[in-house]
Amino acid sequence: MKNIAVFPGSFDPFTIGHKSIVDRAINMFDEIIIAIGYNSEKSGFFPLEKRVEWIKSTFEEQRKIKVTTYQGLTVDFCNENNANYILRGLRTSEDFEYERAIAQMNKKLLPTTETVFLLTSPEHTPISSTIVREIYRHGGDISDFVPDGIVLNK
Ligand code: ADP
Repeated sequence: MKNIAVFPGSFDPFTIGHKSIVDRAINMFDEIIIAIGYNSEKSGFFPLEKRVEWIKSTFEEQRKIKVTTYQGLTVDFCNENNANYILRGLRTSEDFEYERAIAQMNKKLLPTTETVFLLTSPEHTPISSTIVREIYRHGGDISDFVPDGIVLNK
């Protein structure tokens, strides 16, 4: 059986914190599907197609990584894609409390899928898409916080 992990998130935008989680997890799985969850009623900040494009360009050399979007429940997406793991990153105790509840509920909904957490590298702890977006919105330089090659023009 192949070990397939889904790394779900909004990735609005994808940051070096997210990239680091994927880079570190790559040898743990046969395939990682980076899945951008979206809600047709809430569009997010950066266009969905751009978010997909940026993540694809970040990992274009990596054949184990797929990038896609989904709507609805993460567990349904996992089921449809035969994923047996959900990958998430943990920065703080606040992340932990939030992630714990979601992971335990997901386990109830789809017992065959385990959530795997990687602790963030210390230098990435303060990086969040929300703060990166705010810096960008106000004209600040975000190049240190997103993977090389991502040119954030909406
Ligand atoms: P969501 O909207 O589901 O919270 P995000 O795109 O904000 O999605 O994050 C996706 C995952 O990446 C989450 O598990 C989050 O905790 C993790 N993550 C976000 N920023 C970092 C970071 N700087 N370092 C490590 N993990 C992170």
